[in-house]
Amino acid sequence: MKDEPVVILGAGLAGMAAAHRLGKRRRPYLLFEREGRPGGLVRSERVAGYTFDYTGHLLHMKRRETRDLVLKELGLEGRFLAVQRRSFIFSKGVYTRYPFQANTFGLPVDVVRECLEGFVQARLDEAARAARPAGRSKGPAGEGNFESWILRTFGPGIARHFMLPYNAKLWGVPPREMTTEWMGRFVPQPGLSEVLRGALQDRPEATGYNAHFLYPRSGGIEVLARGFAAKVEARLNTEAVEVDLKARQARFSDGSSVRFRRLISSLPLKTLVSLIPACPARVRRASARLRATGVLNVNFGVAGRNISDKHWIYVPEERFPFYRAGFYHNFSPAMAPRGCSSVYAEVSLGPASPRVDPARAAEKVRRGLIEMGVLKPGDRIAARFTAHIPGAYVVYDPHRAAAVAEIRDYLRENGVLSTGRWGSWEYGSMEDAIWQGIEAADQSA
Ligand SMILES: Cc1cc2nc3c(=O)[nH]c(=O)nc-3n(C[C@H](O)[C@H](O)[C@H](O)COP(=O)(O)OP(=O)(O)OC[C@H]3O[C@@H](n4cnc5c(N)ncnc54)[C@H](O)[C@@H]3O)c2cc1C
Repeated sequence: MKDEPVVILGAGLAGMAAAHRLGKRRRPYLLFEREGRPGGLVRSERVAGYTFDYTGHLLHMKRRETRDLVLKELGLEGRFLAVQRRSFIFSKGVYTRYPFQANTFGLPVDVVRECLEGFVQARLDEAARAARPAGRSKGPAGEGNFESWILRTFGPGIARHFMLPYNAKLWGVPPREMTTEWMGRFVPQPGLSEVLRGALQDRPEATGYNAHFLYPRSGGIEVLARGFAAKVEARLNTEAVEVDLKARQARFSDGSSVRFRRLISSLPLKTLVSLIPACPARVRRASARLRATGVLNVNFGVAGRNISDKHWIYVPEERFPFYRAGFYHNFSPAMAPRGCSSVYAEVSLGPASPRVDPARAAEKVRRGLIEMGVLKPGDRIAARFTAHIPGAYVVYDPHRAAAVAEIRDYLRENGVLSTGRWGSWEYGSMEDAIWQGIEAADQSA
């Protein structure tokens, strides 16, 4: 058993980071990937001279260890551009800066007034709650859900004009069915003076965790995955089809079986559970409670003109089929032929993630982009690429935390470390996936 390898399932960033770490520590590993190419969500497609990712993937690295790994050990230092974010919201026919709550300048005056009044009242209510004697400070019923958090934190104006419609559109479930545990750095919470300043004047400075990002000079975000792939060995086109935890053995689509000392899985938790025939009923029930949204990613390459100077735009209004649109050629000019540009739009399919007709959906997106003024009716679309991403965002509903703990505890007791965005069933970034892979490798060694 001691000499048996660590088996790693899935060659996305988490699986490859785990393999890289084990290789560095001279521990034997075997890495298996279902697809014909590593990278998972971090892939890029080249169509007619345009490069498209599976929607915008911008790299933020806050840990020194991950920066050193990616830039130095993988040798990608010179391959990235450092870019300052230009992100906006399109609503009421105008563009305002991101985040909405701190930049209402430019919206119709009535909307700005409603947002400010609500925000000021929310702060007063908060202060009154804090001043109440201990034991009487409990808020209204249901305050743990995302909708009531939004109302309590930002007030009804910001909630009505952005936070509620945008989040309902993105997640495909009403915010009242969600918890707040995922938000962390993802939902900026400006103070009163920032909100007031942002209502009175345009504030071009970018703030928050994603104010700057790294993006490959050329080749799209897959450059990052290729950096890992060059340093690890993976068996591609080899799908895990069964995991026997008692025999510590995994079986694959090519008929092979491998015994493992430890298993690191970056597969979606639900997939992994379905591969374990002996899984207890309580773990299966927990798995059935997990939900995630799907996304349809629609990309166009536009010939002969620059359609936007922005990086990405949040689109809260329901009349547009997508919740966000972005512009690869502004991440790096090499993403489109000279003098041309490219756009992606993200259409949420919600937790049901129905199969939609990609051509019809793409046409609706094109019309939406025309209505927004991004595309013109006469624009020549020189390249198209549409991708269905069945697992895009984890839905943080009240069942998630307990279900994830139940499944991961069971797996851990049986020698399996479940890691990465889907193995942790969480809203994580590329850096998080890399870091989780490293941690899993260290725990398995
Ligand atoms: C729409 C969208 C936008 C995003 N934007 C950003 C961004 O701007 N910045 C950022 O930092 N992060 C972003 N992310 C997050 C980022 O993509 C992920 O955190 C990261 O890629 C997850 O890597 P992973 O290895 O954990 O999972 P994955 O990339 O999902 O890798 C899992 C691997 O397992 C393989 N697999 C599945 N089943 C099997 C099987 N049975 N046998 C063998 N292999 C199997 C899959 O093919 C895949 O390669 C975004 C994600 C989405 C969905």
